[in-house]
Amino acid sequence: MNMKKNPIPVSAFNTFFEQHNDFHAYGFSEWVFCPGMLFQDLNSWWTQGNARPVPHEGIDLCLFRDRAGKIHRLDEKARIPVMYDGVITHIHDDFLGKSIYVRHSIDGKKGCKLHSIYGHVLPGNICKVEHGVREGDIIATIAPAPEKGRIPPHAHITLAWLPETLSCEKLNWEELGNPDSVTLSNPLDFIDCKYSIEDKIKMIIP
Ligand SMILES: [Zn+2]
Repeated sequence: MNMKKNPIPVSAFNTFFEQHNDFHAYGFSEWVFCPGMLFQDLNSWWTQGNARPVPHEGIDLCLFRDRAGKIHRLDEKARIPVMYDGVITHIHDDFLGKSIYVRHSIDGKKGCKLHSIYGHVLPGNICKVEHGVREGDIIATIAPAPEKGRIPPHAHITLAWLPETLSCEKLNWEELGNPDSVTLSNPLDFIDCKYSIEDKIKMIIP
């Protein structure tokens, strides 16, 4: 089994993502990130680099490169698979759509369990609290862009190690940024994908 910089098996998230989305003739080659989209980045990417209220709790999937080298933006048709087998524990509104929390049977330090959290999405039919899911199940599509503002549609993905005693119903993005109760990991260490980082943010975000 593939391993990255962690003792956890790498998720086939990207294999499922490519299977369940239509990339037309040129296919999917790699994710493209701008400064601000990556784990722990301090600034947002949809403004002119304004500071985020807290370091970025995950990654933003918005741009990808096709096999001909052209960069595309995801739209609200993009279908998002779940990273590992698990149980949906919580769904709440966020500022672009909804956030879905999935608890996995993967143990971390001090009795913590791995959770994957999918933000700015619209939950699909299978997406109900307490429902079990399998790795690769499509749990959501990306929420459409708001009419006002210039935040492009994107899926935010967080990986969080949460104590079993923490009740998920109370979780929100504020709580996830609290290092006393939540340990975050970089999702890119757990996903079977290639990616590149582009600095020319104005060229690719209209
Ligand atoms: Zn984000």
